[in-house]
Amino acid sequence: MSVRVRFAPSPTGPLHMGGVRTALYNYLFARKHGGQFLLRIEDTDQARFVPGAEEYIREALDWCGLTPDESPWVGGPDGPYRQSDRKALYRQYADQLIAADKAYYAFDTSEELDAMRERLKAAGVAAPAYNAVTREHMKNSLTLSADEVKERLARGDEHVIRLKVPRHAEVRFEDLIRGWVVVHSANIDDKVLFKSDGMPTYHLANIVDDHLMRITHVIRGEEWLPSAPLHVLLYEAFGWERPQFAHLPLILKPDGNGKLSKRDGDRLGFPVFPLNWTDPTSGEQSSGYRERGYYPEAFVNMLALLGWNPGTDQEIMTLAEMVQFFDLERVHKGGARFDPEKTKWFNQQYLRMHPDAELGAQLQAKLKTKGIDTTVERATQAALLLKERATFVDDMLEGTYLFTTGSPLKDNAEAEAELKKRWKAEAAPAIEAYITTLAGMADLTPVALESTFNEVLGAQGLKIGQVMPLYRLFVAGRMQGPGMFDVSALLGRDEVITRLKAGLDHCRAWA
Ligand code: GLU
Repeated sequence: MSVRVRFAPSPTGPLHMGGVRTALYNYLFARKHGGQFLLRIEDTDQARFVPGAEEYIREALDWCGLTPDESPWVGGPDGPYRQSDRKALYRQYADQLIAADKAYYAFDTSEELDAMRERLKAAGVAAPAYNAVTREHMKNSLTLSADEVKERLARGDEHVIRLKVPRHAEVRFEDLIRGWVVVHSANIDDKVLFKSDGMPTYHLANIVDDHLMRITHVIRGEEWLPSAPLHVLLYEAFGWERPQFAHLPLILKPDGNGKLSKRDGDRLGFPVFPLNWTDPTSGEQSSGYRERGYYPEAFVNMLALLGWNPGTDQEIMTLAEMVQFFDLERVHKGGARFDPEKTKWFNQQYLRMHPDAELGAQLQAKLKTKGIDTTVERATQAALLLKERATFVDDMLEGTYLFTTGSPLKDNAEAEAELKKRWKAEAAPAIEAYITTLAGMADLTPVALESTFNEVLGAQGLKIGQVMPLYRLFVAGRMQGPGMFDVSALLGRDEVITRLKAGLDHCRAWA
């Protein structure tokens, strides 16, 4: 049987990075086994529907390169893939369970349900539930006469359909990650399968669809583990073969205390969403990895290792390699602590791995947004120098002095403060001698520049530390950055001489 897995998000807001990881593991599992990766939109809960959320899910998965084989957007043999478009087909399955005495109609009003809970609480029941015991005292097709039920249905009385959970049964299934799960049916309540608004609940729609879509493995977040025994009962009630379950570990906050939730937003100093999101009701903005400048490959690579490892020390992996190594057996049971610093590290690694010309093109595009026009060749040469200190392409913008002409000291308060601290009159003759030698040099290589500089300093009896900061400030206008001989070679002789002279004049004006 061919593997078919699905990612089944509810469009109740932006997709959390945990959701992206669930999609990723489903994708890897499907590819590994030559199967299909489906996407189903679970939007039966209309009260929680958020406009734009479905488009967000689509865009986020596309950005990550996790495009589903079957989805509401591309269709497929088992569509429609949006539950609201499948609305008409659920009722018959609820009816089927009623006919088999596996489910029943319940007519209780919300006041009656509240009263039941109050009564049970007063009697000392900690978690009152509509279950095998309490249903005996409620208004449902198990307690009312057949005639009354018929009459109420004919009259159109509001009702729901509940699963008739067996009173004494052990529900067992083997989770591919967590091993055997055994729950006594006394701990499962008679969940509503079909609501009075004519819509199925998540539980019914989810099982019916997984069955109709021929899903072989349900790979989803740990928060659904408590629902799994109920789902097992539903498969048994229908007499359907059930898929295998695999519940993925939670993603924890960096301090390990609790689940990293949607509500964490940017509160902890990093995004929890793949893309930017603006809440359509409150207008509240949350940032995304894409807009923060992360490469999707880095984001996906980081997510892959959040709860799984390939069994080796290899951390940097292409999607194809992840497919090759992926195995549910190596998914951890315990929560996976999210590490924002490590996430940056991944981006830095991917940045460095980019072919030079691509990095150059990315830098060229960024420079353009800052009003600096340059060729891709020059941007590439600069990127080669700047990438060592960069985590994001944006970080390379600190090297704009490589693309401008003239002294970088104009309106540069930071450089000014440094110069005031570091200026030494004794350095001036050395810089002048260096300028003179430079002017006569045909070939400006970093090596030639460095030996010239050292010679000049040696002749003047000065140490590098006495002159280099000035050289750096005069030419680059900042203390940090790539080696000055590399920078100078790239800028070219005339530009370096212009900046050094301007620097000397600048300092002499106040020294
Ligand atoms: N609609 C559920 C969700 O939002 C799907 C859970 C499942 O995969 O069964 O996560």
